[in-house]
Amino acid sequence: MTLSLCIVGAGAAGVAAAYGLRDERVAVTVLEKSRGVCGRAATRRRDGRRYDHGTSHLPVADSRVSSLVDALGDEGRIDVEAPVWTLGPDGSVVDDDPEPVRRVAWEAGMTQLAKRTLARTEAAVERETRVRAIDRDERGWRVSDEEGGSWGPFDALLLTPPAPQTASLLAATGWSSERAMRLREVVGSVSYRGAQSVVLGYDRPLDRPWFGLRAATADQPVRWVSRESAKPGHVPQGEALLVVQMGDEWARDHEDDPLDTVAPAVAERVATALDEPRLAEPSWTDDQRWRYAKPNGGPPHDAVQVGEEDGLYLAGDWVAGEGRVDAALCAGFDAAERIAH
Ligand SMILES: Cc1cc2nc3c(=O)[nH]c(=O)nc-3n(C[C@H](O)[C@H](O)[C@H](O)COP(=O)(O)OP(=O)(O)OC[C@H]3O[C@@H](n4cnc5c(N)ncnc54)[C@H](O)[C@@H]3O)c2cc1C
Repeated sequence: MTLSLCIVGAGAAGVAAAYGLRDERVAVTVLEKSRGVCGRAATRRRDGRRYDHGTSHLPVADSRVSSLVDALGDEGRIDVEAPVWTLGPDGSVVDDDPEPVRRVAWEAGMTQLAKRTLARTEAAVERETRVRAIDRDERGWRVSDEEGGSWGPFDALLLTPPAPQTASLLAATGWSSERAMRLREVVGSVSYRGAQSVVLGYDRPLDRPWFGLRAATADQPVRWVSRESAKPGHVPQGEALLVVQMGDEWARDHEDDPLDTVAPAVAERVATALDEPRLAEPSWTDDQRWRYAKPNGGPPHDAVQVGEEDGLYLAGDWVAGEGRVDAALCAGFDAAERIAH
């Protein structure tokens, strides 16, 4: 018998689950609220440039992630050779990669991860479909979207949005049982920190040996800087493009500040850290605020599985307890294994 499954969210966790089930007798429908796929592994295009303003790369340490990357093909794939160095609390740049690992990106942007993965499945993908409520009756799970559409019944449901958004869906349900209450409590206890990505574009190249700079300590305002120009296909020759990720506290302090106030302040910090005064004056800028950038840890594994007896599964970086795209993929693979068996 073929099982029907609805996956809410086409980020790394959702697409990995669909991929993990590609050879099983499971009919998968993916509902995604955005126009594009890949969630926080996001890519933007502007005047012939392309930049990953969310996740800058996919760390490949896990064997399942490595097999997926191989299966997605090497055309247009970037194996980022340049290292990640460390940005010290005093603003110094230190030649020290704390986690040397294979790093992968794509010339057409990080969204290729989800696009290529879904293309290797039979899943039906419905974009611009924001799930508003879920419900369960004797025939299975039913899902309603914000446009008034209804989906299902499905034998199983996999929710992959960040924990606070999953908690809202669990609150908007007529499914009531002791298990439902326990699940609401567990998911509701997972908090996220925000971030702001500030994009700095320059009409001159920036030649550095590193691809990214990672903050040495958790309380530094600048958490990460990546040189998008180190990725082939992203930035025209002769230009440079930096994506600077500002941490939670900084993002909150500058929540209401417009980009033309925020960008010069960020550019100034970058110019000082890289000891290159011209970087204080980018030729163009862009930004993205992330309300839910990364989870602050996660719940115990068995706690998120209490809905599974009723066919309700959860996945996402928060289930893995780590704000990393490879962790989200693994959480999706794990959910697929449990759904299949
Ligand atoms: C600025 C930033 C930088 C980062 N840098 C790195 C990095 O360098 N390396 C790294 O490994 N990780 C990084 N991460 C973390 C990484 O992006 C995430 O851990 C990973 O992408 C999470 O995947 P996910 O599938 O769990 O969630 P998401 O990517 O958030 O996917 C959830 C999906 O669900 C959809 N959705 C939500 N609600 C609904 C709804 N009601 N109905 C339908 N769809 C819905 C969303 O649109 C989204 O597509 C970064 C994150 C941010 C924000």
